[in-house]
Amino acid sequence: MIKALGYFIEIIRGIVITSRHFFVNMFFHILKVLGIKTKRKGAVTIQYPEQKKEIAARHRSLHRLMAREDGKPRCVACMLCVTVCPSECIYVEAAEDPDLEMQKYPSKFIIDIGRCCFCGFCVEACPEDAIRMDSGEIDFAGYTRDDLVYDLDKLLR
Ligand code: SF4
Ligand code: SF4
Repeated sequence: MIKALGYFIEIIRGIVITSRHFFVNMFFHILKVLGIKTKRKGAVTIQYPEQKKEIAARHRSLHRLMAREDGKPRCVACMLCVTVCPSECIYVEAAEDPDLEMQKYPSKFIIDIGRCCFCGFCVEACPEDAIRMDSGEIDFAGYTRDDLVYDLDKLLR
């Protein structure tokens, strides 16, 4: 009986806290809508997707492959990103590059974004600065898993 009473007291306490936050936030939100400035920070609603929040400079967003001046990928298919990726979602196939300085290039470079955990290890491991996660694209989605498989063309966009 005492246990059940404690249970209901906690439920009521939870409802009171939630309601207090709800009405206080709504009050400040109404003031903001009316153009009345207050010292209180925090009662901010971003009307996404019409409004977009500025992304931090150090963000990690959708990968992109960097290109050389001639348009070919900067990647030399060294496989370091493939090795370091904890999600095993990078697939690279190496081919011989006639340019002796490059030696190899990726004939296939695929990232399965659906499996990626956005750790950024691939970017850190790359010795050629060939892969970056600074595209600013964070609102990508797909109807199938295949829509989230990014190949060389998509990554070099
Ligand atoms: S961000 Fe991490 S999980 Fe995603 S592809 Fe790079 S290494 Fe793999
Ligand atoms: S680590 Fe860089 S150079 Fe090496 S395969 Fe990955 S993207 Fe290419």
